[in-house]
Amino acid sequence: MVIFAHPDDAEIGSGGVIARWVAAGCEVSYVLCTNGSAGTGDRSLSPAELAVKRAAEQRAAADFMGVRHLEMLGYPDGGLEDTREFRGDIVRALRKHRPHTVFAHDPYRFKGFQHRDHRMVGIATTDAVYPFARDHLHFPEQITTEGLEPHRVRELWYWGADESDVIVDVTDSIDKQVAALIRHESQMPGFSIQPGQTIEQRVKDRAAEVAQGYRFRYGAVFRRLVARR
Ligand SMILES: [Zn+2]
Repeated sequence: MVIFAHPDDAEIGSGGVIARWVAAGCEVSYVLCTNGSAGTGDRSLSPAELAVKRAAEQRAAADFMGVRHLEMLGYPDGGLEDTREFRGDIVRALRKHRPHTVFAHDPYRFKGFQHRDHRMVGIATTDAVYPFARDHLHFPEQITTEGLEPHRVRELWYWGADESDVIVDVTDSIDKQVAALIRHESQMPGFSIQPGQTIEQRVKDRAAEVAQGYRFRYGAVFRRLVARR
């Protein structure tokens, strides 16, 4: 399961690994937390119009990636807070889809600027994974009235970490990641691309940089938490 703030964050943060795991037979779910209604420099577009466009783009990207389930929580872009309601929505998704591994933004990154929504998603996800989804007395109404059961996630992988401790070879899946990324057409001008550089080049340059010293060409890095048995 990939839990992310804005349409396109999943493909940016974990696209290479997701494409590889889908090809290996994994069932993948996406949980998109905001509607992305603030993600434009185009002043002619209203937030509502943008949200509709971005939902369609995310659906197209998820379908292309072979993602089986897409949940859209629909919070306003820039409006995420660490509330019981938001945490409960993530707990519900975890109990419903029951992932072994969850991918999310690293909320504890401090070496650079990070979007507030990314931090909020990282924190709410971390808490939802442990202990809220696991313990039946948290959000008990999901169990007594919604028919869900507690769920124990085994691993939490953060992208965007200051210091990563896992690298995945994405040499064979990076083209799929890039192709999914460009399904987010409304975001194309915003992906801080240098003049003359393409999104593909930018993604591949970064992936090649982290793979230096390894026996593969492109890598994706994460910080991994593993639940104790
Ligand atoms: Zn984002």
